[in-house]
Amino acid sequence: MNKTLRKIVLILAAVILLPIIFFMTNEITTLNENESVINRIYSDQLDAILFSVNQYSEDIISSWASQNEIFLNENLTETEIKNFFSSHTSLTMIFEADSIDDEKIKFIQPESLADQNDEHNSDLLNHNIKSILSEKTDIIKRLYNYQQQGFRKIEPFADSRIQDTNLLLFVSEADNNKKIYGLLVNPQQFIQKNLSPKIQQIAGNEFVISVYDTLKSFQFNSHKEIDLPKIQQEKALWIFPDYRLGISLFGTTIEDLVNQRTKTNLILISILTLILIAGVWFVFRNIKKEVELAEVKSDFVSNVSHELRTPLSLISMFAETLELNRVKTEEKKKEYYSIISQEANRLGRIVNTILNFSKMEAGKRQFNFVNSYLNDVAENVYGSYKFHLENKGFAFKIIKDETIPIIKLDEEAISEAIVNLLDNAVKYSDLPDRQAGQKKEIIIRTGLENNFAFVEVEDKGIGIPETDQKKVFDKFFRVSSGLVHNTKGTGLGLTLVKHIVEAHKGRVELNSEIGKGSIFRLVIPLSKS
Ligand code: ADP
Repeated sequence: MNKTLRKIVLILAAVILLPIIFFMTNEITTLNENESVINRIYSDQLDAILFSVNQYSEDIISSWASQNEIFLNENLTETEIKNFFSSHTSLTMIFEADSIDDEKIKFIQPESLADQNDEHNSDLLNHNIKSILSEKTDIIKRLYNYQQQGFRKIEPFADSRIQDTNLLLFVSEADNNKKIYGLLVNPQQFIQKNLSPKIQQIAGNEFVISVYDTLKSFQFNSHKEIDLPKIQQEKALWIFPDYRLGISLFGTTIEDLVNQRTKTNLILISILTLILIAGVWFVFRNIKKEVELAEVKSDFVSNVSHELRTPLSLISMFAETLELNRVKTEEKKKEYYSIISQEANRLGRIVNTILNFSKMEAGKRQFNFVNSYLNDVAENVYGSYKFHLENKGFAFKIIKDETIPIIKLDEEAISEAIVNLLDNAVKYSDLPDRQAGQKKEIIIRTGLENNFAFVEVEDKGIGIPETDQKKVFDKFFRVSSGLVHNTKGTGLGLTLVKHIVEAHKGRVELNSEIGKGSIFRLVIPLSKS
């Protein structure tokens, strides 16, 4: 890469690429931040729902606790007790202890259970609860503290000694009369009987709220659907330490939505980045082309000077020789005249090429289309070059397809194009360092191809490397490798050829192989006729 291009690359990187990278990184980070804010807000909402379930279950237990003292009243009748427990089926027992060391803890339980419990069982229960209480002295102390501040806290416990039930402990301290109370509640029954209506109401049709134990051996769901969505968020159930609350969303979850959104946004950002990078690439390529063109233009000046100088010096040299009467034989004189006229023609052609090119560049070149026979145009060029080329030792042929109909052509322009091709065919076949096997042979061929007529010039010259085949039609371009460096030219001939054919709504096809030769075909549509 040369200096100018390196500079351009640096400028492009600094002015376009860096801001793009900065912008994209900024976009992606803000996107992530936005998504995490959405996620946080949503997760807070789910938390609030779970909080309300927790609050509700605590309220139920709290209301039971409020009725506790009444039901421990000794004057209660059997029926009153029975009615209480039958309306609170998940409650299996209530107890009251005067202190942690109370010898005779007072129990009250449904008749059915009491019946089953013999003396031994009752003792065992007494013993178990006592031992639990003695382990919780700290907590009970804390409960008294709360109580003194006017707040009744209910402390839950799960313990293997009370089997399927959970213990909910609270205290009271009325008139300096301290009491410890306990409710033994069956969590699964509580969830199914007391909590389920509320859960179903909160869940509605948008969420599924589930309650399950930590081992997942029990699970209650607000909906009975078979395909339950994945639990999105969970929280502990305050009143039962071994149970948890979970919430999930029907259909697309917010997480899915957020993921989906992030994905779409990332794709859009990537596409945008690609487009911007493609834009930068495009700008770079154009600038690179311009820089190359500028370089090639400077070569052009030296090439043209050389192109003009050679015929000029030949003309002046031979004219001088003739003027000084130094040529003795008529034959020699004739030869010199012919060289002068050939070189003058060459000069004329170079000047014409440059003039035509500048007209073409300015968009001022006019074409004059008339009904013509392509064969006649080719034949005329062939006629005027035959002698010259054969003199140079070329086998020069024309092969015509006589079925080509009349088409609309600018005869002069097409002749100019064929002449340019012939010039090249000569220049690039007739090199001083010719390789063995390269024949000096040029063929002009006309023909038909679908709806097109064509005229082509074939040579057995040096050929064009494949990588350069597209570029040879670019203005000022000259193949810089191989044997060509000795041959001078303007690099405009093929540009003009292409321009002329395109003005006829046609195209140029190139078929060339290094060391074997080239065929340039001018393809012109018949529909022009
Ligand atoms: P130039 O004045 O250099 O001949 P052109 O535009 O006519 O400019 O051709 C461009 C380049 O294409 C030439 O410099 C040469 O390298 C290559 N070229 C054109 N015609 C032929 C050919 N018949 N055989 C080999 N190379 C060719």
